[in-house]
Amino acid sequence: MSLVIVGTFNLDTIETPRERRERIVGGSGTYCCLAASFFTTPRIVGVVGEDFPKDTLELFNTRGIDTEGLLVKPGKTFFWEGRYEDDPNKRTTVATEVNILKGFRPQLPEHYRDADILFLANIDPDLQEDILAQVKSPRLVAMDTMNYWIQTRSESLLNVLEKVNVFFANDEEVRMLTGELNLITAGKRLLEKGPKLVVIKKGEHGVLLLSKDFVFAMPAYPSETVVDPTGAGDSFGGGFLGHLDRAYSYTEGGIRRAAVYGSVMASFTIEEFGIDRLRSLSSDEIESRFAEFQKLVSF
Ligand code: AMP
Repeated sequence: MSLVIVGTFNLDTIETPRERRERIVGGSGTYCCLAASFFTTPRIVGVVGEDFPKDTLELFNTRGIDTEGLLVKPGKTFFWEGRYEDDPNKRTTVATEVNILKGFRPQLPEHYRDADILFLANIDPDLQEDILAQVKSPRLVAMDTMNYWIQTRSESLLNVLEKVNVFFANDEEVRMLTGELNLITAGKRLLEKGPKLVVIKKGEHGVLLLSKDFVFAMPAYPSETVVDPTGAGDSFGGGFLGHLDRAYSYTEGGIRRAAVYGSVMASFTIEEFGIDRLRSLSSDEIESRFAEFQKLVSF
């Protein structure tokens, strides 16, 4: 069992209607690997500058995450600033500074190349393609993206999409990519492009899984504590693929359970700013929320 995750390891400034936090740790790779680390021992690929907090690198190590593929280089870490409106599903990007990621062309450490599962988390689609070419024969390849790449690099993104088995996207991104308003129609269009499974994340409205053989819909956890929605999607991906890696089997039942674990991890992440809730989380809390989800959808 082995899960390789390529993503961004960032500093974020986040503004919600209640609070503003400057330069806290974030990034698609960060949320994803921390969430996955409750299920398996992920190997991560990315780059950070010398301003990336040392205690987060230590946290990765104590959580058993393999950081050999995470380079620390002189320079500034990728920076992103986002602002949420009263509706936590609505987010505006205020600023993006690529910094250390400019010109980054990752080389996978030798022992990463035999990964069973490769997760191309949200990052430049050309980097996703580069990494994909370096992994020998993965059993499952998944990718995520965001509106920024759909708007600026859709051709590169569609090239990667053809080669993956699982595509994660949120409702807005799926509509943007296909031009279809209806999510089922949009999901079917995406299935025609290559992936066997399309996972449409709908924020507080849950998640929709579409494949040629089945459709599965899950509500989100009915949470009253939404402090910072950042990283919910990436935590979902980490929980989903972490569970599949641990189960080592990708049956329909396993995929449905993976969607529940993904939803569990997303529901914890949004309870505190940045990665704070993932720092304090325990496996017992994860299992008891999984059981709550079972009750929630039983009828
Ligand atoms: P999520 O809320 O799951 O969509 O992910 C939010 C994370 O995406 C934040 O921590 C940001 O640092 C990161 N992010 C923002 N812009 C980009 C980008 N262009 N490429 C990759 N990651 C980004």
